[in-house]
Amino acid sequence: MDLFEYQGKQFFAGYGMPIPPGEVAFTVDEAVAAAERLGTPVMVKAQVHTGGRGKAGGVKFAATIDDVREHTGNILGLDISGHVVGRVWIEQASDIAEEYYASFTLDRSAKKHLGMLSVEGGVEIEAVAEENPDAIAKIWVDPVDGLEEATIRDWVASAGLPEAAVEGAVDILGRLYEAYVDGDADLVEINPLILTEDGRVQVLDAKVTLDGNSVFRHGSYTEFDETQTRDERETAAHSRGLQYVGLDGSVGVIANGAGLAMSTVDVVNQVGGSAANFLDIGGGANADVMAGALEVINNDPAVRSIFINIFGGITRGDEVANGIVEALDRVDIEAPIVIRLDGTNADEGRVILETHLSESLQMAPTMLEAARRAVALADASGGAGA
Ligand code: GDP
Ligand code: MG
Repeated sequence: MDLFEYQGKQFFAGYGMPIPPGEVAFTVDEAVAAAERLGTPVMVKAQVHTGGRGKAGGVKFAATIDDVREHTGNILGLDISGHVVGRVWIEQASDIAEEYYASFTLDRSAKKHLGMLSVEGGVEIEAVAEENPDAIAKIWVDPVDGLEEATIRDWVASAGLPEAAVEGAVDILGRLYEAYVDGDADLVEINPLILTEDGRVQVLDAKVTLDGNSVFRHGSYTEFDETQTRDERETAAHSRGLQYVGLDGSVGVIANGAGLAMSTVDVVNQVGGSAANFLDIGGGANADVMAGALEVINNDPAVRSIFINIFGGITRGDEVANGIVEALDRVDIEAPIVIRLDGTNADEGRVILETHLSESLQMAPTMLEAARRAVALADASGGAGA
């Protein structure tokens, strides 16, 4: 779950981090009113779920109210890497002396939290990592031990922050770690963290990714959840209670169980194809669920063939087969379907399906064979390389 910059700043402010005052605005008039309340000069900042806004013309300094009007007019509706700006953040402008970088994220291979701090802030950290890796001071934090203030002091010293920034940075980094852990974040990034001309350390930009599965623990996250920009296919699938992730390929995948669904995506790739999605229909593969899954896949114009991969367990193969037959009655499917049915009552299920088989509804005995056929069908109808 990605937050807009202003939501990230509000999230940080909740942990006591210093944030310049600002207001969100959806129209030019709202931006002007906000700037009048805040007092010029202000920054007009595009709110989109992507970085590099400054370079794309989405971050502008406004010395006067007329500037606010002009910049907001230009920024609203701007396309930044495929994200169209629908709201801006109007913030009191800061006098910047220096820009730093700070972040926490999970280092899976180390099984620890990774903190990164650099005096080379304001530019993309990937560029710093490439051109001047020594400029990034890293620490690995064992989640059980936590992060002591003494460790933060050593870290700040090794990053080479100037004396004037030390106290402010130590305070912010402690709070940043707390926000990261307590807030169930996957990523918290401040770029730039600034030292102002009058000697204050402040958060100037915020990039926060929260763990979507932690929403039940944090009542306030529902408002962040509402502003997520989702793949249309994902929205349609989630509204039907399906576990769906959109991918770029041409073979639509339906499987029961997350593990099998992942293996199905893998095996499609293994035989030279590419999956259009991950879709786990879960345990109950009845007609309603199957029809919903087929509808979602059918509405994806990139899909050239469909691979239904079911392993009967608690859900019996004959129930699944009946579900598929009934679903096919209800949904007009455009792409050819290959079914692999195995597990509990698979034989009974195959008997049910047998009478419905055709060019566009095939059955294969194994997962590998089914994947090969689905990929061949996708390729034959122009899905190659899609
Ligand atoms: P990003 O381009 O999406 O990372 O957006 P940022 O919020 O990081 O802004 C980009 C750059 O604009 C910063 O690195 C600063 O150099 C500059 N900037 C942003 N806010 C201010 C401000 O209040 N005052 C000044 N002087 N520069 C700012
Ligand atoms: Mg930035």
